[in-house]
Amino acid sequence: MKTSIIGYPRVGSLRELKFQTEKYFRQEITEEALQKTARQIRQSQWQLQAVNGIDFIPSNDFSFYDLLLDTAVLFNIIPERYRNLGLSELDTYFALARGYQGDKGDVKALPMKKWFNTNYHYLVPEIDDQTEVKLIGKKPFLEYEEAKELGIETQPVVIGPFTLLKKLRYVGSQKAEDYVQAICVAYQDFLKGFQSLGTGWVQFDEPNVVYDLSQEDIHLLQKLYSEILAQKGEVKVLVQTYFGDVKDCYEELLALDFDGIGLDFVEGRQNFDLLDKHSFPKDKLLFSGLINGKNIWRNNYQLTLEKLQAWQDRGIKVVLNTSSSLLHVPYSLKHEEKLKTTYRKHFAFAEEKLEELRDLKALIQSEKYVKDARYLKNQALFENRPDSYNPQVRQRTSAITEDLFTRQPAFGEREKIQKEAFNGPILPTTTIGSFPQTQEVKKNRSDFKKGKIDQATYEAFNRQKIKECIALQEELGLDVLVHGEFERNDMVEYFGEQLDGYVFTEKAWVQSYGTRCVKPPIIWGDISRSQTMTVKWTTYAASLTEQPVKGMLTGPVTILNWSFPREDISLKESAYQIALAIRDEVLDLEAHGIKIIQVDEAALREKLPLRKSDWYSEYLDWAIPAFRMVHSGVQASTQIHTHMCYSEFTDIIPAIDAMDADVITFEASRSNLLILDALKANHFQTEVGPGVYDIHSPRVPSVEEIKTALYKMLDKIPIEKLWVNPDCGLKTRGEKETKGSLSHLVQAVKEVRNENKGSI
Ligand code: GLN
Ligand code: ZN
Repeated sequence: MKTSIIGYPRVGSLRELKFQTEKYFRQEITEEALQKTARQIRQSQWQLQAVNGIDFIPSNDFSFYDLLLDTAVLFNIIPERYRNLGLSELDTYFALARGYQGDKGDVKALPMKKWFNTNYHYLVPEIDDQTEVKLIGKKPFLEYEEAKELGIETQPVVIGPFTLLKKLRYVGSQKAEDYVQAICVAYQDFLKGFQSLGTGWVQFDEPNVVYDLSQEDIHLLQKLYSEILAQKGEVKVLVQTYFGDVKDCYEELLALDFDGIGLDFVEGRQNFDLLDKHSFPKDKLLFSGLINGKNIWRNNYQLTLEKLQAWQDRGIKVVLNTSSSLLHVPYSLKHEEKLKTTYRKHFAFAEEKLEELRDLKALIQSEKYVKDARYLKNQALFENRPDSYNPQVRQRTSAITEDLFTRQPAFGEREKIQKEAFNGPILPTTTIGSFPQTQEVKKNRSDFKKGKIDQATYEAFNRQKIKECIALQEELGLDVLVHGEFERNDMVEYFGEQLDGYVFTEKAWVQSYGTRCVKPPIIWGDISRSQTMTVKWTTYAASLTEQPVKGMLTGPVTILNWSFPREDISLKESAYQIALAIRDEVLDLEAHGIKIIQVDEAALREKLPLRKSDWYSEYLDWAIPAFRMVHSGVQASTQIHTHMCYSEFTDIIPAIDAMDADVITFEASRSNLLILDALKANHFQTEVGPGVYDIHSPRVPSVEEIKTALYKMLDKIPIEKLWVNPDCGLKTRGEKETKGSLSHLVQAVKEVRNENKGSI
């Protein structure tokens, strides 16, 4: 039996690529220096995989920003406004990813969206009638050869044509079907390039086939691959699927001329049934994704070996694979110095997963694996999980009743009461919570963590920052203020650290987008809150100003979705445990005089099941109640806000309304305000703050630009329901552009208020 992985993380095991890339953005290093770091990362990872005996080692899974963007650029899908900047190849690429503002021009970044049900973001490539789709890039070929020079044969990976066509944004009159011919030729040329290099296998990632597919989708898939594969020559092609099952196209995939089919058996449980029901051709390889690519728990060797054995007994040629790219897990446990062995031995990050693959390959070849030490050690992990059960928590969740899910009085009545209590201007302005996390802010936290400064010094610094932040917001003229979140490293980790039941890592970073990484905490056991988590900072900020200060919490669904979840209890059970803890915090903030409380659910949408038919039954039916439980205890006059990032929630608007928040702020500027129509059509009742500018880019929007956005919003949203705010928190931005952007925001609102005096 052979082993394979779908892809490896690429920011570097200590985030070397992130730091170098950011230096490059600040023009502190040359492209050559950046390329050198990139090369070192790729090479050390290939070598690590080779040492662990991985038989199918991917290449071109490296990216400076995003794999889908790489694929678009590879095939010349680059809108003219980016080409026209006349930048170098790499800088054009970065302009697509982050926007560009400088002496060569001013363009926004491409929109960014969450990659399936992960917290990774991809860039949405844009195609227009002028685009000539053809192979122009060299990256996959160069990286393949780079590995080859090290004596390592790799399997180049690219996003496949079906997923690419599905993910493109068509801005001209042409649609997907108009590009099919050109796409086929481009992918054929891609294969031909590898034929001439003598490459053994190429991997086409086709995660889009795990969605519900229409008849047209299936035809498209068949058309693309029957043409492309006709030209594959000596190169063997693996079609790799992940994040779900392929029940809509299983037989069609088998009928196409692929040499290998990659299936996800972790999230795609139904793939087991498909394989049981239908035969699997003897002349193809089954790349079986049994090692979870998205979670950090050790694989259960017994279960995996049983499956592998059963397939082998049926004569299926199996390759043991990960269920998805390892991009979604941290690099290595090696860097975790503080993690206790009792916990640690239960985890496998990317590097440890390579070791699991190595172990399993050895075990399946041995007759008596049940006596093997590696096997026995693994089995013991599943018999004993210390510190994971808390009887008080279980008692509380089992006592949850319906009334805990319902806030009284109903929205309309509350809205009136709150408007009176607030007594502010129309189009109230606010921010999403965080202010720039400057070097000093980060240093203060890390010095405290490392014990270099004492608690008093640490807190004094934060109080000083809060003071400056409140003063700045007053000076800018914002209406609802925030304390700035200087004490927070990350919106989930911060809460995780204060809740019981979590386990923490030091260096376990996972890429979120571009150079941004997150460090998801691990839900180890039952969750509870032993003391207040935010009251101290929020009340301090409130004491400095007459304006309302918004309390800032992360919601239970987001905390859960951005943590590595348990696999021994249900997600619903975990969500309810967290919801009860956050509910206690909400009530404490209210008791301390905080009248507006924002509960961020930035990640609510991302774990929506990929198939629509599962949305409510598998997710929303507990996710929405979990949120409602958080705020159902507050008074009518307390205003509950929620915030979502990158929410393409057009299709779940009723569910969002059912969260029963009073105000929701969300990302809108990058997606051209499309959501507004949907809000209107659905008679959305919650007040809304669609972001008026994109905070993921350093460019400063002009007053005019913001006014234009506001007027577009006012076309669709009654003025008394509209809030004005940036897209998301400002923590990744510099102080200067933050000030610039917010002052433009306030100025734009002033002008719009003046121009609309008559209408209110
Ligand atoms: N309140 C958080 C912040 O402003 C929200 C971040 C987010 O939505 N990702 O940073
Ligand atoms: Zn956000």
